[in-house]
Amino acid sequence: DPIVSIKALSKRYANGFEALKSVTLDIEKGEILALLGPNGAGKTTLISTICGIVTPSEGSVTVAGHDIVTDYRKTRAMIGLVPQELTTDAFESVFDTVSFTRGLFGKKRDDAVVERVLKSLSLWDKKDNKIMMLSGGMKRRVLIAKALAHEPEILFLDEPTAGVDMELRKDMWEVVRDLRRTGVTIILTTHYIEEAEEIADRIGVINNGELLLVEEKQALMQKM
Ligand code: ADP
Ligand code: ADP
Repeated sequence: DPIVSIKALSKRYANGFEALKSVTLDIEKGEILALLGPNGAGKTTLISTICGIVTPSEGSVTVAGHDIVTDYRKTRAMIGLVPQELTTDAFESVFDTVSFTRGLFGKKRDDAVVERVLKSLSLWDKKDNKIMMLSGGMKRRVLIAKALAHEPEILFLDEPTAGVDMELRKDMWEVVRDLRRTGVTIILTTHYIEEAEEIADRIGVINNGELLLVEEKQALMQKM
């Protein structure tokens, strides 16, 4: 069974704007899916809906068989979300901020989990550093660590490399590719074709709120 199942999902905002138009998509466990589309295409609306932050106007989304509206707490706990904005808990140490975030999800303190998450992101040697002292790239890794602190099965990354230079972008690609070995399902949004090409197994193309196509990367690249 797919880990995320989206059926005829539409979103009309209060001002009448239709940001998603009958999107249907299954996401398989363990895959890396890139949602590719220009600014304003509806990518953030789609992932915010799956995370339960935005309510669907029509259609449905299930996560591991649970409806995101009626079973919100259960589905939200299965999801880690890396937002576009950088965090501001500047004075905390890397270890403490990740441990604290785990607690926000009602999970018991577990230093071994925090250690594993930090090691998977090559942050272990920075565990005692204050976040404000880290480089931009390391701060982005901390955001991912926070999203993984409660051991979600699905990780969403919203435009993980928007506005970063090429060196840091390549670094982030490597981080994402490394994470797949931990077995987590990864869904990222991007408006960079080469980013989708570098890290995704499948690419979904979104424009004007419509999912135009979803294909295995190789098949899609041959057509372009
Ligand atoms: P919902 O339909 O999910 O309740 P709303 O339509 O109420 O969402 O919008 C949530 C907030 O986003 C409101 O404060 C709204 O004014 C604001 N907003 C309106 N238009 C936009 C836009 N184009 N982009 C981002 N935010 C917007
Ligand atoms: P993307 O992530 O692909 O840039 P978004 O999902 O952020 O796209 O936005 C899709 C469209 O929906 C945009 O035209 C945006 O202005 C509009 N939009 C986003 N949030 C709101 C809102 N709360 N109310 C009205 N329109 C919105």
